[in-house]
Amino acid sequence: MRTHRCGALRASDVGREVSLGGWVHRRRDLGGLVFVDLRDREGLVQVAFGPGWSPAEVMERAGTLIGEAVILVKGVVEPRPAGQANPELPTGEVEVHATEVRVVGPAATPAIPVARVRGEPLAAEELRLRYRYLDLRRPEMYRNLELRHRLLQRTRRELSERGFLEIETPMLTKPTPEGARDFVVPSRVYPGQFYALPQSPQIYKQLLMVSGFDRYFQLARCFRDEDQRADRQLEFTQIDLEASFVTPEDIYAVTEGVLVALWAEAGAPVEAPFPRLAYRDAMARYGSDKPDLRFGLELMDLTPRIGEGSGEFLRAAVGRGERVRALAVPGGAALSRKDLDALTAAAKTMRASGLVWAKRGPDGPTGPGVKALGAAALEALGLGDGDLGLAVAGPDAIALPALGRVRLEVIRLLELPPSCRHAFVWIEQFPLFEREAETGNLTFMHHPFTAPHPDDAALVATDPERARAQHYDAVYNGVELGSGSIRITDPAMQAQVFERLGMAPADVEHRFGWLLEGLRSGAPPHGGIALGFDRIALLLAGGESLREVIAFPKTAAARALFEGAPTGIPAADLAALHLTVAS
Ligand code: ASP
Repeated sequence: MRTHRCGALRASDVGREVSLGGWVHRRRDLGGLVFVDLRDREGLVQVAFGPGWSPAEVMERAGTLIGEAVILVKGVVEPRPAGQANPELPTGEVEVHATEVRVVGPAATPAIPVARVRGEPLAAEELRLRYRYLDLRRPEMYRNLELRHRLLQRTRRELSERGFLEIETPMLTKPTPEGARDFVVPSRVYPGQFYALPQSPQIYKQLLMVSGFDRYFQLARCFRDEDQRADRQLEFTQIDLEASFVTPEDIYAVTEGVLVALWAEAGAPVEAPFPRLAYRDAMARYGSDKPDLRFGLELMDLTPRIGEGSGEFLRAAVGRGERVRALAVPGGAALSRKDLDALTAAAKTMRASGLVWAKRGPDGPTGPGVKALGAAALEALGLGDGDLGLAVAGPDAIALPALGRVRLEVIRLLELPPSCRHAFVWIEQFPLFEREAETGNLTFMHHPFTAPHPDDAALVATDPERARAQHYDAVYNGVELGSGSIRITDPAMQAQVFERLGMAPADVEHRFGWLLEGLRSGAPPHGGIALGFDRIALLLAGGESLREVIAFPKTAAARALFEGAPTGIPAADLAALHLTVAS
């Protein structure tokens, strides 16, 4: 039906007879001429209808064309009249003189505007998600999804060239522990029994290693029923991979290869290898296991300097075995009282009891921190004129993340310039276990299949909280891109870890027997990683929300507004599934 896409026409096409199909973006009637901006995925072209070249019935039809209707046009590419070229449009030197027009897809008045006047804000996001097929007509959305497509293809190519096989694993499966709730699907055939949608293909990929596939990958759709959190999607895509006979180094090299290729695909050259940081050091220096290394601003430990000259509150904290962690912010004295209150509030949301601050002006230090810290600690902070000192006291599990959060707020408030554009880092040697904040129970930091660090295997039995894991995270500009680990392949160690997690052997057998059996049947050493593909696409597309890089996303409140899900189902369907709804 078409010879060209609308957005493809250039001055070199002048004289050519073309057939176009597209959406009426805008129509203007001007002194006997009708101009239609015709749009398709490649862009806009101006179609001109005039009595000199358009037959009378074509002129008449042109005058009735409605925005967002789909038309087929035939005509000749002509240069625009002198002075009327539009340098902002790639097709701006030409127009198409129409000799035929046919409406093939009439359109009702669109529920949200597609053709916007410059600077006009977008419709409310709820409306855009409800009428997603209109929202997706925006060139920005096309650009994002086209980039996403290229990133998917590039991932496949890179991994396939490295000998990884793309293997699909089931959607209807058994619960996989990745720390979230499962979405479950009732079985009609087996009353009272349920499939779970995969939180990740974890167990399958490990079993593929047991089977000898050696290198596997999948652009895996994963489902996690998590409470509403900023910018999460209930279903998302991971670049999931696993390999046998590998050390973390091998996984780093493959992952770096993929990430460098993806950044290149988006036009951002970056270099590997990425630096590495042990979890402990990341926490001590940046207060975060996903530090944003585009900024310096490292935390300090003032604990040894708290003493005689310090205030009672900090002395008592140190007396209890807590630590005083601090941050010296060059130029931070410029922050207002309101800013300092905001920083204190940020520390408190991270469970810190408060934030101590001192500023240094031309006449020396001021602020409550002067007394609280005392001369020795203040000196250690090394504040220069115009600087700000900030300190948090508490157990490291609280003080470090709280100050890490304050660090990021300071960077934001002072609009500090980043020292580089792309800061990748591997965080390694995570603890194997952590304590759940609410219950105090021991739980896994990543998932229960993560192998302990070879030097710490004995600690799993004797002092599990001190055991480090062979777990690593890939971090970029303060954002976690993905996690992975070397897996436990020794069934005895796997049993020990389950025991530490407080899981009864019968329960373990019921839930994970299918993996354990595999591990007992000849399992090669193996490990892998999963990278959050949607987030990578978002970082490279440069948007604000994952919804900008997913064609049909859910809202933050877990609703699909476009199709209207979740929704009730007829009583007969419930009955067939052996379900009753309690209230
Ligand atoms: N299954 C893990 C996750 O989804 C990734 C991995 O360990 O490979 O986070």
